[in-house]
Amino acid sequence: MVSSIVKKSNTETPDGVTIIGSNVAATQTALSLAQMGIKVNVISDKTSLGRDNIAGNESDSSSATDRLTWSLLLQAANHPLITLHTSTEVEAIEGEKGNFKIKAIKYPRFVREDLCSNCGRCSRDCSASITSLLNGQKIVHSAIHTPVLNSKSIPSAYVIDKNGVSPCQIACPLGINEP
Ligand code: SF4
Repeated sequence: MVSSIVKKSNTETPDGVTIIGSNVAATQTALSLAQMGIKVNVISDKTSLGRDNIAGNESDSSSATDRLTWSLLLQAANHPLITLHTSTEVEAIEGEKGNFKIKAIKYPRFVREDLCSNCGRCSRDCSASITSLLNGQKIVHSAIHTPVLNSKSIPSAYVIDKNGVSPCQIACPLGINEP
């Protein structure tokens, strides 16, 4: 799916800012701007904020640093002035300081991001297996999976690595696995 994300801003009284990237620094910047009352678009080619850059391991969430990071990501994702564009690649940027136009490609995750409850039922019923690299190790997982393998993430909506029609589409009780 191709979409255009167009933001204009005025250098004196900015009505909107676009941040490209979703690591912790980018997310903190987005949150700081939003807390100043500025609308922010965050564009990222990742499926989720921040933790894409952290090794996928649930035990990470016990560290103080990770708890702070998690809190930051939650605040940013839930801030009414921040709009997330995950799985989105910037194709072109045109314009000049204070007035840029950004063209981006949005890749579907095939699951409704606004409705997925992260219950995991679909992945348990998924019969399609995929091999991926995680921290240098090959792991086998279902074709529908959490955005960051073996870890929590924000947004938490599941993602389908699609290759034909998947059984999890039928298994989802909410019927929100999109074709
Ligand atoms: S896609 Fe459906 S079954 Fe899978 S985690 Fe989301 S709500 Fe649960």
